[in-house]
Amino acid sequence: MAYDRSNVFARILRGELPCNRVYEDDYALAFHDINPLAPVHALVIPKGEYVSMDDFSAEASAEAIAGFFRAVGETARRLGVVESGYRLLANTGADGNQEVPHFHVHIFGGAPLGRMLKKIERH
Ligand code: AMP
Repeated sequence: MAYDRSNVFARILRGELPCNRVYEDDYALAFHDINPLAPVHALVIPKGEYVSMDDFSAEASAEAIAGFFRAVGETARRLGVVESGYRLLANTGADGNQEVPHFHVHIFGGAPLGRMLKKIERH
């Protein structure tokens, strides 16, 4: 899948749309989700143009991958959820219900989140 430069996170990275920023460095930008599904719900996106976890893990440099995941950890610290705990989620592709085609990791926390997922049968 080719990267679509008009996606909403690309527009946030270019400063064309606002975001409620939590953390930013050379590798990543983190901001609060516009439609939070938990008391704490933030998104961390790499600065590079990667469609998905699949694209990022295959194509990004080791430095970009390390920088991104360090930024995820730092974002969780800044959100104050390390002690209470948190969950990471990276929706990928159709079955993963990925809506925005720029790789992103969700950070959820601020309350007990329950078990991983409601059990779902194979399609
Ligand atoms: P998904 O692609 O399914 O992993 O989820 C995309 C997430 O992006 C959803 O949780 C949306 O609420 C969130 N989102 C979409 N537009 C914005 C925006 N402009 N600012 C912050 N979060 C957004």
